[in-house]
Amino acid sequence: MHLESIATIPLSMKITTVESSKLPSIDFDNLNFGTVFTDHMFVCNFINGEWQDPEIIPYGPLTIDPSARVFHYGQAVFEGMKAFKDENNKVWLFRPDENFNRLNKSASRLAMPELPEDVFFNGLNTLLNLDKEWIEKGKGNSLYIRPFIIADEPAISASPAANYKFMIILSPARSYYSGEVRVLIAEKYSRASSGGVGSAKAAGNYAAQFYPTSLAHKEGYQQIIWTDANTHEYLEEAGTMNIFFRINDTLITAPTNDRILDGVTRKSIIQIAKDNDIDIQVRSLKVSELIDAAKNGSLKEIFGTGTAAVINPILGFKHSSFKHELPKINDSYATLLKEILNNIQYNLAEDKHEWRYEVKSM
Ligand SMILES: *Cc1c(COP(=O)(O)O)cnc(C)c1O
Repeated sequence: MHLESIATIPLSMKITTVESSKLPSIDFDNLNFGTVFTDHMFVCNFINGEWQDPEIIPYGPLTIDPSARVFHYGQAVFEGMKAFKDENNKVWLFRPDENFNRLNKSASRLAMPELPEDVFFNGLNTLLNLDKEWIEKGKGNSLYIRPFIIADEPAISASPAANYKFMIILSPARSYYSGEVRVLIAEKYSRASSGGVGSAKAAGNYAAQFYPTSLAHKEGYQQIIWTDANTHEYLEEAGTMNIFFRINDTLITAPTNDRILDGVTRKSIIQIAKDNDIDIQVRSLKVSELIDAAKNGSLKEIFGTGTAAVINPILGFKHSSFKHELPKINDSYATLLKEILNNIQYNLAEDKHEWRYEVKSM
């Protein structure tokens, strides 16, 4: 990957380290996902049309003017990635070029400036080198990486800001178990619409989801399967994950479009399924087809895919008055595919597609 060479280009970067690390005080056995952050953070400001020299500083609160655009018009995009540590203490990222490209696609869609590749990768490499003691070895352990860009120019005129802040923060994570997941298929609310920002990792997409999801919680469902906004007839995403259905021995997932996030886990699972001779169809699936398959017993599995959980099996669903529980099966594709993907991520298996990227020690 040509990222290797990029990471070695020195970037003029000021680094201020903490006086003492918080690490000894962290209880890794009781980590609440996304609540604990490492010692340092990476910051790069965009001012008057240019990205400035970046900085690494101790993790802590920011001072931002209350009139900053991000608070009023939601100009904010983000990414979610993970770093893994193998048995030899080497640190690995999984397809980070995909996250970098997607961050810039999201930024463009929200009229925000694109980030130069060297800022992203040098920032990430340097920050991970500083805080790599925070990554625990072993499957299930990882360091969740949250890069994001916000509009911090102080002015509430309704137009794109001139100033932005790109940051990377890091949060240690244990295997993400989201409990038993049953889902409600959306019949009224939508996550995204055609021509909208559904395919961007825009902060506002999440805000729009919280209320309908809280209604689902009240009915005893943990997530919503989003359907297309126009007809609610086609299955699109599960909560904040892409979604796969197994009917007989065929896996089906929706093609990406401007309402569906182009997930890195989704595209990796599609490739791994192909590599393992699992029949995979990338096509739209109708709600009616899902219900027919549930009724005639051919529906075997449903699972969501995303960086945080990798694969999250869905145990049951409800649509209108129709409720269905998935059968327990022994030859689960979800379990198999997750195992194969994890083995690549943790440097335990051959990486024939060159998805792994080593964070070299500095
Ligand atoms: C981030 C995200 C995903 C998963 O993408 P990955 O790259 O696999 O982590 C899926 N759907 C939505 C809406 C997302 O925001």
